[in-house]
Amino acid sequence: MRVTVDMAKCENHGQCAIAAPAVFEINDDGNLVYDGNPVDSERGDTLAAADVCPAQAIIVEEN
Ligand code: SF4
Repeated sequence: MRVTVDMAKCENHGQCAIAAPAVFEINDDGNLVYDGNPVDSERGDTLAAADVCPAQAIIVEEN
């Protein structure tokens, strides 16, 4: 799966990093960084993160 975050929508609140900490992280500068090509074992958490994002900024595409 491929993950893209629309950074124009993202507000860096970090709910995605709570739902899928192996894929999304708020760095020391307070900005979101993420793995755009997570391993299959992260699929459930990644979809949960997309669901929980209040800005609906996370786009998940199947490879
Ligand atoms: S939950 Fe959505 S708005 Fe918040 S940091 Fe993650 S991608 Fe950005």
